[in-house]
Formats: sequence, C-alpha cells, structure tokens
Amino acid sequence: MIKLVNVNMSYRGKRVLEDINLEVAKGEILVVIGPSGSGKSTLLRLIIGLLKPTSGEIWVNGQEISPMNENELNQMRRHMGMVFQYSALFDSMSVGENVAFGLRQHTDMPEEDIQKVVRSRLRMVGLSGHETDMPNELSGGMKKRVSLARAIAINPEIVLYDEPTAGLDPIISTTIDRLIASTRRRLGVTSIVVTHHMSSAFNLADRMIMINDGRIIEQGGIDDIRRSENRLVQKFIQGWT
Ligand code: ADP
Ligand code: MG
Repeated sequence: MIKLVNVNMSYRGKRVLEDINLEVAKGEILVVIGPSGSGKSTLLRLIIGLLKPTSGEIWVNGQEISPMNENELNQMRRHMGMVFQYSALFDSMSVGENVAFGLRQHTDMPEEDIQKVVRSRLRMVGLSGHETDMPNELSGGMKKRVSLARAIAINPEIVLYDEPTAGLDPIISTTIDRLIASTRRRLGVTSIVVTHHMSSAFNLADRMIMINDGRIIEQGGIDDIRRSENRLVQKFIQGWT
C-alpha cells in the first residue's frame, strides 16, 4: 500500500531523512518511534504529498507520487486521512462541519448523505450529538476524536497519525489507541502511527520502525524491537515507557 525507496529529504540543504526504505502492507499498522527532531513528521508529510523528497521514490497504492501535480495529489488524498499532532481543527467551524470538510472538498455527495456520514463517524468516536459544538468548547481528547472522525469521514484506505496521544492523559490516550485499532478493524485501513508513548506503540503495532537522526535504525515486530541489541533503541523504549 505504501512503499518508500531510497528516500532522502533535505530542508534547505540540511538533511533530515536519509536513505529511507519502507513498506507498509494493506491493513497493517506500522508504528514509528524516535526522538524529537528525528524526522517522523517529515516522513508522514512526504507520504501524504505535502512535501516532495529530495530524491527517491514514494509509492502509494501502486502509484508513484513524486511526479504528481497538485491535481493528481488531491485525487490521491481522497484515499488518505491524517490526524495531526495538534488536532488542527477549523476553529470557526462546528464539529459537524469539521467532519464534513473532506466530503465537501473531495466529493459531490448530497447534503443528506454528508449528514449521515457525519453522524456515523461521530458515533464511531463516541461523540454522537456533538455536531453543533464548537472546537473551543471541547477537551483535548474530544478534539482528537473529532480529528479522527474527520480523517475517516472520506472512507480512506490509509490513515496517518502524527503523535495522536501527545499531551493527553493515560486514560484518554488508551481511548484514542482503541479508536485507532477499531478504525483499522472496521474500515480495514492501512495505518502509520507516530508516537512517543511506548505503551501505545506496543499495543498497536503490527510492525515498528525506530528513526534516529533521519535514519531507520531498527525495524521489525514488537518482539524484535523489545529485544533489539541497539543501545539507542533500548534507551528510547525504556526512557519513554
Ligand atoms: P519529528 O517529527 O521526529 O520531531 P520533524 O520531521 O518534525 O521531526 O523534523 C526533523 C528535522 O527537520 C528537525 O531538525 C526539524 O528542525 C527540521 N525541520 C522540520 N520542518 C522543517 C522546515 N519546514 N524547514 C526546515 N527544517 C525543518
Ligand atoms: Mg513530529
């Protein structure tokens, strides 16, 4: 579903991702761990086509995205949802309008159907009846759930999560983790989850990678990561558990 081949990325000459090779199979949850500034968000922005790599190939659902123009990228993004670290809701729009946004942007679905999808997605994240709330009336955990409802409104094949539980308390984090897992189960989506929370990582991952300084320094199943002999990996997973 997602494949990166020898991807390098520099911001104004400063290299932030180096020789990244990666594959994510359909329906799989890949968890990405690594210290701040290691290039995790950059990796997600490349996959959703918000950034172009300096070199290398990025394939999404059988298509190489680097040569795509804005139009073609928009087509591709119809099949992708993203949950940003700071929720990134539109503050001037109600919860319902936030969730409907992608449907209005990317489809010509009739209003009645849009409202049906909005209700069904809000139900999935446990926020039935909150359509007319405004984002500034919501707690951090609720905002994150709206953000997730918005990401899955378009029935995406791929959802990218950038630190979805950052800044949330452990109980709310567990709720978000469960929603990520049930989204995969119910919609069959392919997911990449960037997280600092090792409990989330080990709960969710089919496979994990650790990035350090722009390079993948370890990858494998949960047990491979737990038993990694790489000292940086051990330091990281012990420090953040
Ligand atoms: P992470 O998500 O792992 O914390 P990022 O992908 O956000 O890491 O950032 C990786 C590196 O790239 C950091 O050194 C960061 O300062 C730098 N960086 C991120 N975005 C930009 C940008 N738009 N312009 C220049 N440098 C950037
Ligand atoms: Mg980041």
